[in-house]
Order: sequence, then C-alpha cells, then structure tokens
Amino acid sequence: MTDGDVCPPKLAIVIHTEEEFDWGGGFNVDATSVSHGEELFALVQSLSLMGAKTTLAMDYPFVSSAQGQNCIANIKISKEISKNVEFGAHLHPWVNPPFEQTVGFVPEHLSYPGNLGYEQERAKLAELTGKISEQTGTRPVTYLAGRYGIGDNTHQVLNELGYKIDVSISPFADYRHQHGPDFRNFNNDIKLENKILSWPHSSAVVSPFSFVRNYFNSSPTSYSSENLFIKVLKKVFRAKLHRLSPEGFSLTDMKNVVKCQNALGQTYFILSFHSPSVKAGLTPYVKNDRERGEFIEKILSFVNWFEKSLDGEFITINEHPLVRKL
Ligand SMILES: [Zn+2]
Repeated sequence: MTDGDVCPPKLAIVIHTEEEFDWGGGFNVDATSVSHGEELFALVQSLSLMGAKTTLAMDYPFVSSAQGQNCIANIKISKEISKNVEFGAHLHPWVNPPFEQTVGFVPEHLSYPGNLGYEQERAKLAELTGKISEQTGTRPVTYLAGRYGIGDNTHQVLNELGYKIDVSISPFADYRHQHGPDFRNFNNDIKLENKILSWPHSSAVVSPFSFVRNYFNSSPTSYSSENLFIKVLKKVFRAKLHRLSPEGFSLTDMKNVVKCQNALGQTYFILSFHSPSVKAGLTPYVKNDRERGEFIEKILSFVNWFEKSLDGEFITINEHPLVRKL
C-alpha cells in the first residue's frame, strides 16, 4: 500500500466525553461517575502542544460533574489550549434530564436518542445544550448522538436548537440487532442535508488490493451482504472494516484507514475515542496502566505521523469550510 497523497488531509479529533459505565451492564440511570477529568485534560493539553485540535462532544453527566467542570475550566483558562478546543454535545438519553425514571435500567431501544419521540429527544437535547452553554460560555454547534443513534426527527431537533453539524454517522455499521440505526448504505462522504452538515466518523474497508477498497467504498451496502461471492471476496482479499480509532485498532490499522481513504480522494477525517479510555480500568480498551501508556502513545504517534508524513492539518469539527455556508 503506498501513501496516498491526492490532497493534504485534515484531521478532527472527536472525543465522546462522557461518564464511566459498565460497557456490558445495561443503561443504568445511576451510573454517572466521572473520575477521569484530570487525565482527559492532560491529553487535550498534550495534543494542543503538538498543534492538534480536539472537539469534546460532552454529555450531561460529564458537564454536570466536578471533574468535568474542572476540565472545562482548565481548558478555558489557557488561551493556547482553548483556541484548539471545540465544545460539542453528546446525548446519552438514559442519564440526561428530563427523566422518565430516576432509578433502574432504561431498555436498550431507548438508549438511542433517535428512538425517542420528537418531544423527548428535543427536551433532552435542549437541557444538555443549556448545561453546556452555561459551563463553557458558548453554544454548541456540533452534535454526536449517544450510540450513533440518530433518528427521523434528529435533523429537525438540531435545526431548532441551533446545531450545524452532526457527526453521528458510523459508515458501514448496522446496529439494528440492538434496536439501533442502520448505516450500511453510508460511506465517508460528507453531506449537507436539511441545513445540517453530516460528517461521518471515519471508517474504511481496508485491503491490500485497491480494487477491493474501491468496490466497497462505492458500494458500502455490499460489505455486510450475506452473498457468498462477497464473503469469499472479503476473505480472499483480506478486506476488513476499521474505524479510525485507537480503541481496538493498532497504529498500523489507523494509518491504513487514512492511506486507503486519502488515495480514494477523502480529505477530511475524524479520529474518535471515548474519554474514559484515557484512564486505566474504565473501558474494555484500556484495562491497566500498561494499556493506558500504549493507548496515549498510539494517539500521539498517529497525530505526529498525520502531520509529518502526510502534511496533514488539524481542525475542530466546526472549522470545516462548509460550515460557513450554513
Ligand atoms: Zn457515548
């Protein structure tokens, strides 16, 4: 695979900035602890020193917690860091008021904001928007649905609440088996629809063979097809779906996503991960201090490679040039 250099790429780093919870343990309305604020600030600071920019898509428990508020205050107090940070919104409906229940577990289908009724989705996002505005002094314009869960009413709600960009699309993914959205028909194309810029989280089908990469990029639905020919094609040509993320993917995987997609003409990339992964023992991806060291190193190495090897540049989500047209 050669370095694709069609056009210098741009990188936005989106952190799903949220509470800590048991990833396999359901949607408990009481699981709202945030104990990784200092580690998160340290990483944002390191990235900023490298010239990299970060969009913190923050949810209600994070913005309401002491550590979350300290993290926000530490960013705001530094001119150098705050110019490299955007505060966006991330909606986890089960821990975001107004609440339908104050104890117990929310059923899985209601963990996706897009499955709520219009009134509920709007009311919850309005509460979150108010809380973020109060803590940061700016109104968020970038939205990330919890569990990538956008629905039929989401664009209307976003328009009404002043949002301009949605980053909830997860290309190729199909979450229907857990009552979630179906993104099988989406690749990484950025689209302007209903006055909202949809910028997908970067995912790509990588393979050592360019015709295979081209095929799945132009026909994303095929990737999840049960067709025997497609299954054989994937196996023989080693086609694999990678998200541009340090969670569950190696540095080589991450570089391959960008190389493959840049060669296809993609210029704008989103690197994403969950904020609790910055501290040991809070997510399945970072179980101990050794893994934490590797995780941070992977992010910083990737950022360094992106800038030095690809002549890449860093932007926040709201700095995408099409946002100016909205
Ligand atoms: Zn989340």
